[in-house]
Amino acid sequence: MKMNERRNDSEDGFGIDIVIHQGSDKIAPSCPHGPTLLFEKVNKGEESGRRFYACSACRDRKDCNFFQWEDEKVSEARLQAREEDNHSKRPPFTHVEYTSRFREFVTLPLDQRRFCVDCQVLLLPTDWKEHSNHETLSDEITVARLRRPSLLLCPLENKKSNAQYLFADRSCHFLLDMLSRLGFRKVLCVGTPRLHELIKLRNVEGTSETTRSLLLDIDFRYSQFYGQDEFCHYNMFNHHFFGGKEAAGVFLDFLREEEGSKVVMVTDPPFGGLVKPLAHSFRQMSDAWRGLQGAVNSQAEMPMVWIFPYFFEPRIVECFSSFTMLDYQVDYDNHALYKHGKTGRKQSPVRLFTNLPARDIVLPEEEGYRFCAICERYVSAGNKHCPECNACPSKDGREWTHCEDCRKCVKPSWQHCTSCGRCALPDHPCRQGQTGCFNCGSLQHKHRACPDKLRPQPKGKSRGPSRPAHTATRRSAKKKSKKAQKKKRKVT
Ligand code: SAH
Ligand code: ZN
Ligand code: ZN
Ligand code: ZN
Ligand code: ZN
Repeated sequence: MKMNERRNDSEDGFGIDIVIHQGSDKIAPSCPHGPTLLFEKVNKGEESGRRFYACSACRDRKDCNFFQWEDEKVSEARLQAREEDNHSKRPPFTHVEYTSRFREFVTLPLDQRRFCVDCQVLLLPTDWKEHSNHETLSDEITVARLRRPSLLLCPLENKKSNAQYLFADRSCHFLLDMLSRLGFRKVLCVGTPRLHELIKLRNVEGTSETTRSLLLDIDFRYSQFYGQDEFCHYNMFNHHFFGGKEAAGVFLDFLREEEGSKVVMVTDPPFGGLVKPLAHSFRQMSDAWRGLQGAVNSQAEMPMVWIFPYFFEPRIVECFSSFTMLDYQVDYDNHALYKHGKTGRKQSPVRLFTNLPARDIVLPEEEGYRFCAICERYVSAGNKHCPECNACPSKDGREWTHCEDCRKCVKPSWQHCTSCGRCALPDHPCRQGQTGCFNCGSLQHKHRACPDKLRPQPKGKSRGPSRPAHTATRRSAKKKSKKAQKKKRKVT
């Protein structure tokens, strides 16, 4: 199977496709982030482009500069150097070492417990000297604080490839309550450290039924706080376990639903990460899960919740036809745009995509969500059922209005434009090519919905080959939304 995803909407990604081979006999070379992905750069007028391997996880060359043409001969010396480079970029301690350091740490009296802010590491007395010039934290590193590593560690924000946006308490509690109510007793947390943390906290409180959690995340700082049965250093863009077979074994063990303990996977990947490699990894997880459950039907999918912005709906549904998008708006603590402010809620564009039945997921009434009996799902307050569309059509939480000419509901700020033959913002650049599809020039759809994605693009759109924009960051999503917001303010 070959899957293509073209990122011609991003700054530097014009004409870059991702190629995913299943059962390919060629082994992709590895960078410090595990096996690389195969990309294809298609030039105008060419049937197929030149293929190259690049890092699966990092968008920015500064973070990982791996590059190799598919047909390139790599010398022994270079392979050797690469091997050494990969080795040198491993975490300073193994997971086993981190675990024993932690055990020692908690035996220390409070006044000897220190955390190095510069190195983001818990210090043992023998490390003090080495960190004497660093900023350290030494006040009351209690057991309670150690149970909340997401508050102790500073979120990786500036690093393009894994910016961390942590759930606001409200969203995190909602998620966990929802999953508990549905009877899940095991949660596979993929890039959701705060959810993992909350599950463990609730287990300690003992007020609800015990739920097991396994965190898979590329942020190895978490191996200081969690044992090998609770955390795996993992890359979700290539389904790579940095801890090798042993870690992959922990993951497989976790998927086994012994004594009816149902498993659900919850993931919140970096925004703008390429959907297809992510979907490919999640598919592999689901296949592994199915394989472990004995004789269930061969179509069964692992229950999954994928948290991502609503405008990715077509791409996610293309990969998982069983997924629906829920209206619930996910809020973050450290995200200026998506958090629930003092002045009332800013609409968050982040949603849940899931293969769980939408009618079973009760969204909080106190936040205005209501049940639509016709759609059989909970919807936002502003999302009014349209008899013409026979759906609750709003994606962004605002009330959309039905356009007779377009035969569908559109954003409230849009008006039907007879010369363009579609609804658009009142000040849209009327009948100008650039409002349509980059790929084929049509005004009827955006490139995302282009039926002819593999065709070469119009001249002048292709830019530098060097880097696929496969993990545009939450930051750039933020930038975009900022722009979008400015626009909105002007026109709505
Ligand atoms: N809202 C979540 C955090 C989401 S931020 C919460 O509060 O729990 C994205 C998360 O994905 C971060 O924890 C980040 O470390 C992780 N991540 C980023 N790139 C990754 C990759 N390639 N593989 C695995 N995890 C990754
Ligand atoms: Zn890399
Ligand atoms: Zn409805
Ligand atoms: Zn309608
Ligand atoms: Zn219209």
